[in-house]
Amino acid sequence: MNQHEIRFIEMQKALKKHKYKVTPQRLAILKILAYNISHPKIDEIYEILRKTFPTTSPATVYKTVAVLKELNEVLEIQYSDKGNRYDGLTPIPHPHICCTVCNKVFDIQAINFDDLINKMEKETGFEIHHVRMDVNGICQECRNDP
Ligand SMILES: [Zn+2]
Ligand SMILES: [Zn+2]
Repeated sequence: MNQHEIRFIEMQKALKKHKYKVTPQRLAILKILAYNISHPKIDEIYEILRKTFPTTSPATVYKTVAVLKELNEVLEIQYSDKGNRYDGLTPIPHPHICCTVCNKVFDIQAINFDDLINKMEKETGFEIHHVRMDVNGICQECRNDP
């Protein structure tokens, strides 16, 4: 099983465990969150969902994502200029890199984030509760497209 399949199943389990109904629309939303690596916004999730469920409403997406957020099964990344993005693949805080041209957001895997947090705690004597790291730049696709 790959990471996407694992997260798809984990999110379903979390919903069932907390007695939330797993409707076909909800399943489709979970799938989008588990398989999409570019941190979609609510309206982007809705646009994908609408292809399979034309009668669905953005409220369905909002509600499902809110439930997943409450269960810590999705990470919300708030941007003042880009709107809120969602990561269902890695629901714990981790570094993100954002393209200033196309606004796509990706994960950075190369950094050992736990190690970095440990070092920051050691240096400052803080007990760190929340950490967020954003890096900005221009993605490869946009760099290749003058
Ligand atoms: Zn880009
Ligand atoms: Zn992410």
